[in-house]
Amino acid sequence: MSTLHPLFQLYAVLIGLVLGSFWNVAIARWPDHQSVITPRSRCLTCGTQLAWHDNIPVVSWLWLRGRCRHCDSPIAPLYPLVETLGGLLGWLLFTRLAPSPDALDAQSIGAWAVYMMLIGCVVIATYTDVRHRIIPDEVSLYAIPVALGLVALLELGLGFVGFPSPGWQGAVLGAAAGGGFLGAVYVAARVITGEYALGLGDVKLIALIGAFVGPAGVMIVLLLGSLLGSVGTLIATVILCRRVYPPFGVALAAAAVAYLLWGPEVVPAVVPGLARFIPGG
Ligand SMILES: [Zn+2]
Repeated sequence: MSTLHPLFQLYAVLIGLVLGSFWNVAIARWPDHQSVITPRSRCLTCGTQLAWHDNIPVVSWLWLRGRCRHCDSPIAPLYPLVETLGGLLGWLLFTRLAPSPDALDAQSIGAWAVYMMLIGCVVIATYTDVRHRIIPDEVSLYAIPVALGLVALLELGLGFVGFPSPGWQGAVLGAAAGGGFLGAVYVAARVITGEYALGLGDVKLIALIGAFVGPAGVMIVLLLGSLLGSVGTLIATVILCRRVYPPFGVALAAAAVAYLLWGPEVVPAVVPGLARFIPGG
């Protein structure tokens, strides 16, 4: 349990809500390669530009009872859900990185900002992978150099190397290890079975996750993701009584978030030998 002042925790929730609001824009626009900066948010039905007071995370949706103020058409509950997820994950990650008042410093706040970007990328990837079966390059391939730069900045600018940040060399190795491993599986599956066992988007996504968490972290995420993916597929196949092709990106995304929030406790408990590979863990 965090002993941080509740006000700090509230800040983390509020910033998380705002980030969630931005993730919504990205979810709607990046699959079509549209800009997330312009134009400003509009109603998808009548096209009316949203005033700032109709664009407040969660609150506006509740206030307008899930309908557009101008044309009364319904606004999907997905929007407040993603915003709520942003607030929740923002709070959980903050209390993980700064569990006590003495841990609250430039390093932990910097790490929080950097790792909220990873969470944002995997949340957006999850939605687009389920809905459109694609993972946009904006949250995978193009984000890799940004991730490498941010991890380097944490290390060289703030002197921070520790869970979950592997330092810049670890970041390069992590991207190469994750992307290289799944890339090899992708090629091997294609050659041997002639089928695409996974998408190239999954390869780019795990390379991004590797850039954020380093080589040991990315292997743990791969292990956990494969486990979640297999169990999820099994359950879905039994329930739906037909063969399903699960979006592997979703399993990787869930594994990455789980690693960020609970890795240092859960990993040693499950696989004792892996604990020493977690940076600063
Ligand atoms: Zn409208």
